[in-house]
Amino acid sequence: MTALPARARYVIVGGGVIGCSIAYHLTKLGVSDVLLIEKDSLTAGTTWHAAGLITSAGFHDETSLWMCRYSRDLYARL
Ligand SMILES: Cc1cc2nc3c(=O)[nH]c(=O)nc-3n(C[C@H](O)[C@H](O)[C@H](O)COP(=O)(O)OP(=O)(O)OC[C@H]3O[C@@H](n4cnc5c(N)ncnc54)[C@H](O)[C@@H]3O)c2cc1C
Repeated sequence: MTALPARARYVIVGGGVIGCSIAYHLTKLGVSDVLLIEKDSLTAGTTWHAAGLITSAGFHDETSLWMCRYSRDLYARL
C-alpha cells in the first residue's frame, strides 16, 4: 500500500461517485495536489448500488436535470 502524503491542498473524504467526480473535475481543471481518501474501496458505498444507472426520474429541478444530462454525456466520453 502506498503511504499517504503528509499534506495535500485538496483532501476529498469518500470515494463514491461524488468524491471521484470532484477529484476528476479538479484534475481536469489542472489541479494536481488532490488526495482522495476512502475507508473501504472505491464505490463501496451507495454508489455500488447504482453503478451504471442514470435516471432523471424524481428530479424536478433544473440543476438536477442538468447534472443527469451532463453525467450521461460524460460517461459516453470516458
Ligand atoms: C439501492 C440504491 C439504488 C440507487 N439507484 C440509483 C440510480 O439508479 N440512479 C441514481 O442516480 N442514483 C441511485 N442511487 C443513489 C446513488 O447511489 C447515491 O445518490 C450516490 O451513490 C451517492 O454518492 P456519494 O458519493 O455521495 O456517496 P457514497 O457512494 O455512499 O460514497 C461515500 C463514500 O465515503 C466513504 N466514507 C464514509 N466515511 C468515510 C470516512 N470517514 N473516511 C473515508 N471514507 C469514508 C464510504 O466508504 C463511501 O465509499 C441509489 C441508491 C441506492 C442505495
